[in-house]
Amino acid sequence: EWLRPPGAEAVTISIGNFKGGVSKTTTAVTLAQGLSLLGHRVLVIDTDPQGSLTTLFGILPDTEVEEGDTILPLAMGTETSIRYAIRSTYWTGIDLVAAAPVLFGAEFALPARQTQEPGFEFWRVLDLGIDDVRDEYDVIIIDTPPALSYTTINAFMASNGIIMPLPPNALDFASASQFWSLFSDLTAELLTNRGLTKEFDFIHILLARVDSTDAASNIVRQWIGQTYAEKVLPVEIPKTAVTGVTAAEFGTVYDVAKYDGSARTFKRARDAYDSFVGHIDGSIRSVWAK
Ligand code: ADP
Ligand code: MG
Repeated sequence: EWLRPPGAEAVTISIGNFKGGVSKTTTAVTLAQGLSLLGHRVLVIDTDPQGSLTTLFGILPDTEVEEGDTILPLAMGTETSIRYAIRSTYWTGIDLVAAAPVLFGAEFALPARQTQEPGFEFWRVLDLGIDDVRDEYDVIIIDTPPALSYTTINAFMASNGIIMPLPPNALDFASASQFWSLFSDLTAELLTNRGLTKEFDFIHILLARVDSTDAASNIVRQWIGQTYAEKVLPVEIPKTAVTGVTAAEFGTVYDVAKYDGSARTFKRARDAYDSFVGHIDGSIRSVWAK
């Protein structure tokens, strides 16, 4: 029983931001689990060589992931469909493409092929690589590295929508606007010059790791609202120790079996993610309705 209408394909969502430590990976895994609880079949793709998302699924990048388990063969051109790298996870309904440090090689392989292979479009490798499986999932979630790297550009170009987690503090806010202007410069150079365009069905800013006791966060929250307006989701994910505790058990707030912390804080975090997941479920359904 599929959620998506007959003939519709998986909606692909990249979780991206220049910065490390802004809750990208936590958002990716929590979203995957929350959507799966709503009945979506989910593929998560880890494109960060640090492999944090892979780790959160209880798989150790250093010892349990080989080159051929990652998207590196796609980047090198030895594979054309991502199918070879898909593995199941402990969470029924979520499949994973893992990452490991060796994936750094993609940052060399892609530009090398761009100069060596006439007509090669480095930014479409992942987009083409997932074509084969778009009718086997409801949602594909791509976690990206903290940089506007070749891999991140591939992730964005493969996506219907983008979610940018953004903690309301001044430096994260400043780097977020650099992220968008650099990204639009890049896409202009890659696409517009070739008469192509890339439009996203949705771009959502998620206020994440929000510390309500931090006076500065109220000021920055206003800047974010003024700058990104309707892109800002009407949800705030609180900064809470619950996230760290569940991560230490390789889980999220949806992994209730693994949680034994304070019930009140847990409910606050869980309610916030429920609301976030509900919004994204709505965005997915509106893409299908198009
Ligand atoms: P990124 O992928 O952007 O580098 P992570 O999701 O790995 O960010 O999060 C960075 C650190 O912050 C992790 O230790 C994570 O457990 C913690 N963290 C993420 N979200 C929250 C939150 N809402 N409250 C508290 N800690 C959080
Ligand atoms: Mg990460």
